[in-house]
Formats: sequence, structure tokens, C-alpha cells
Amino acid sequence: MAALDRLGAVGAQPEAALDGLVRLAARVCSAASAEINLVGAEQLWFRAAQGLGTPGVAVPRELTFCTWTVLDPDRPLLVDDALEDERFKANPFVADGTIRSYAGFPLISEGHAIGTMCVHDPAPKTLSPDQLDALSVLATAAQTQVGLRRHVEALSAMARTDALTGAANRRAIDEALDRELSRSARSGTPMALVMLDMDRFKSFNDEFGHPAGDLLLQRTAAAWKRELRAGDLLGRWGGEEFCVLLADCRPEAAAAVAERVRAAVPDGRSCSAGVASWNGHESIAELVLRTDRALYEAKHAGRDRTVLAPLSAGAA
Ligand code: GH3
Ligand code: MG
Ligand code: MG
Repeated sequence: MAALDRLGAVGAQPEAALDGLVRLAARVCSAASAEINLVGAEQLWFRAAQGLGTPGVAVPRELTFCTWTVLDPDRPLLVDDALEDERFKANPFVADGTIRSYAGFPLISEGHAIGTMCVHDPAPKTLSPDQLDALSVLATAAQTQVGLRRHVEALSAMARTDALTGAANRRAIDEALDRELSRSARSGTPMALVMLDMDRFKSFNDEFGHPAGDLLLQRTAAAWKRELRAGDLLGRWGGEEFCVLLADCRPEAAAAVAERVRAAVPDGRSCSAGVASWNGHESIAELVLRTDRALYEAKHAGRDRTVLAPLSAGAA
């Protein structure tokens, strides 16, 4: 309990707290291995492990005892001798002698078992009632830590997402531009920025009302996401202006993406696009300025088109 109290003091560092909890679990149960893991639809992810298992590594869900633990969120799964248990005697970890006994507590988040805290041994074993009590307390602490971590991750995702459209917000765009420019500078791979601005959006609002305008922005962003690859970043630059950050993309390919995205605007509406490819030495501000100028040119030339920026600002 004193050790658990000390762990409370490192609550600000969840990884350290989870590591401490698995060490304690292995010690109080005199177990060869202890784990905190998350059980997903297909895989189990180790969050912290002592003995077998590597944090961050996944194993197929069907191979794990924990898959059975999360099936019943109301009680632990106790297997004193896996060779005596029909569910596990053919399990490959049992067959190769790695696991013979197992005790796992489900970790609950919002009513669902999302993972387990468990201990296991290569020999048959029955945990004492005291050991089970201690493991249960440690599992509750693990559940709190894992739950906090999920909330922090959810908050962090929300802080980087535009609430209306689900696209990345300015903060996330700025971070991505910074990251991708550095990566491009290191690796020498090309990178392109596309700016998109809805055409005559003010008159759409005037005619159909602001809520209809909001809905169109939502549907447009959703349609654009379907056109983009997983690694491309769609961001809402502000108002009815969006951007797409294309890593590892040459200028001509970026212009083709802009055309594809423009064609996906719903309801027969149109938008204009400016595209610029990073020239290898300019700052983020200069890249944005060149992209913006290309967009301005597209508007000036009559809208509903894509303009590819020349590689230097002077030539614009
Ligand atoms: P163009 O870009 O083709 O020059 O014309 P535009 O009418 O789209 O002009 P501009 O880009 O200057 O105006 C943007 C308009 O978009 C102004 C504003 O009413 C509207 N708008 C900006 N943000 C939102 C939003 O979040 N929701 C809605 N409904 N309208 C928005
Ligand atoms: Mg506009
Ligand atoms: Mg605008």
C-alpha cells in the first residue's frame, strides 16, 4: 500500500505509474510476468509489461487469455492450470510452455472492458485470496491511469480539431507544417500546400441562410476527406477557407489532388485552389504566402480553377 501511495505521487507521468503498477503486481503475486494491456477488435496492445510482452507491441487478439477476460467485465479470469482448461490447452503460448497459469482483471472505461491487468506464470499456480485482493487494487489503479490517459488523448485531439467540420484546426495545421517542412528538409522529399476557398460563399449564405452555409462546409470537408489519402492533412484555415498538406507530393501531383478535391464540392458549388510546392529553402510563412497568391490569382482569373504557384515569390 505504501508503494501504491508513492505511485500516486507520479500520477502526472502515466507511463511511469503503469510501469510501477506492473512491477508491484508481479511482486505481490510472485509472478514471472505482469501486464497492463488494451484489447482492441483485432489485437492486444501492451501498455506496460514486466517479464513477457513489450510495451507498444501488439499480438493477435485470438492468441491471448485477456480476450476472454474482457468478455466478462464483472469478474476476473482465473486459470490455475491452462492444461486443465478446454479454452486454453491448445493455446500456442500454453503449448510452448510460456504460460500455464493466468489471473486477469478487466479494466473498465465508460462501462466497457477495454483491457486487462494480468499476471501469468509458466507453472500451474493458485493465487491466495490476499494476492487476489492486492491484484484487484492494483487493477483499479491501472484502470484510473488508463482512463485518465484516454481522456487526455481525447482532449488533445479535440484541441486540434475544428468543431464544425472535423478538419484539423489552425493549431494542428501549424504543427503539421512545422513537422513536414523539417521532414522534407531532412529527407529531400517534396511537399506541397493547397489552399481552397469556396466561391461566392457569401451569396450562398445570403440566399440560404448561415446554418445552410455551415452544413455545406461540413459536407464539403467530409467529401474532401474521402478524396484524400490517410497521410494527407485537411485543415480549416478559417471561415470557408481550407488547406491540404501533401507530404511526399510533387507539384503536378498536388495540382491534380487540388482538381480532384475541387470536383468533390457538393451541391454544384465550386471553389478555387492555390497550390505551392516547398522550394527547399523558404520559411513556412513564405510558402503560405506563395500558396495564398496562387489562390488569389485563381479567384482573379474567374474562380472555379486551380493555379500552381511558380517556385519563387519573385516570379509570382
Ligand atoms: P469569393 O471567395 O468567391 O471571392 O467570394 P466569397 O463570398 O466566398 O468571399 P469571401 O471568401 O471573402 O467570403 C467568405 C464568406 O464566407 C463570408 C462569410 O459570410 C462566410 N463564412 C465564413 N465562415 C463561415 C462559416 O463558418 N459558416 C458560414 N455559414 N459562412 C461562413
Ligand atoms: Mg470565398
Ligand atoms: Mg474566404
